[in-house]
Amino acid sequence: MTSRALVAVLVACGLGAAACGGSAGGAVSAAPASEGGSGSHTVPPASPPAAPATSPAPSKTTATPAAGESRTALPLSGKVVVVDPGHNGRNHRHPSAINKRVNVLTQWKACDTTGTVTPGGYTEAAFTWDVSRRLAKILKSRGATVRLTRPDNAGVGPCITERAAIGNRAKADAALSVHADGSAPANHGFHIIMPKKINGPVDPVVGASRRLGLAVRDAYRAGTGVPYSTYIGTKALNFRSDLGGLNLSRVPKIFIECGNMKNPGDAGRFQDTAFRQRTALALADGLQRYLG
Ligand SMILES: [Zn+2]
Repeated sequence: MTSRALVAVLVACGLGAAACGGSAGGAVSAAPASEGGSGSHTVPPASPPAAPATSPAPSKTTATPAAGESRTALPLSGKVVVVDPGHNGRNHRHPSAINKRVNVLTQWKACDTTGTVTPGGYTEAAFTWDVSRRLAKILKSRGATVRLTRPDNAGVGPCITERAAIGNRAKADAALSVHADGSAPANHGFHIIMPKKINGPVDPVVGASRRLGLAVRDAYRAGTGVPYSTYIGTKALNFRSDLGGLNLSRVPKIFIECGNMKNPGDAGRFQDTAFRQRTALALADGLQRYLG
């Protein structure tokens, strides 16, 4: 049911840019100063309009909020966030589609993978989907425009190249790929994966992605209590150049591996609804800290 509603929202966002992101007109136009926009410097101070008097309205309507709209600025208004739930619920049924080779610049690899699963059979795809839709809901409630890279957990893909492209097309201010790892059972804890410079499109956003990674790491740890990974990275920070979702991203992007699905402790958390909600909240807080 909820996923239906979410799909409806997604469709609305996808089709009508104006309806979602666009509606925050004022906020959006205020932001891009840094984009070196062609428009920003074109209007000089234009101070003394020689012959005033006659024109009542036109000159500068922008500064007048007048109308009774109580526009309380939400903390994320004007921000675009792409949330990428790792894998997909039907990937395992369509090996030929999933195993298609795609170019991730540093190598060729499979279009997507099935993801991992807990010993009890709870799949990574189901986990990432549930956390992502909760996260999307929270981000929207804080004013963000949110795009998910898949509409439900009953399909196949998209390819990792497309997951990156979705963030690029959305010109996302931040993109987050949600995963959970499948390591040896004794390993536990979470880690963040950030891009490395590869002489490719991700290079300009490597620094910003690192800042995003730090913000999300701190928020996830504080919000969920999950410890740093015992087996990957330093203080839960890891950098990779083999992931298509990162290599092809032109917007700040990171992965989070929320824990190890093969570890009984981590797996127990993942199957707890309240934990998944805490996870979504923590991720939203991390994104907001970065975007704020
Ligand atoms: Zn994964």
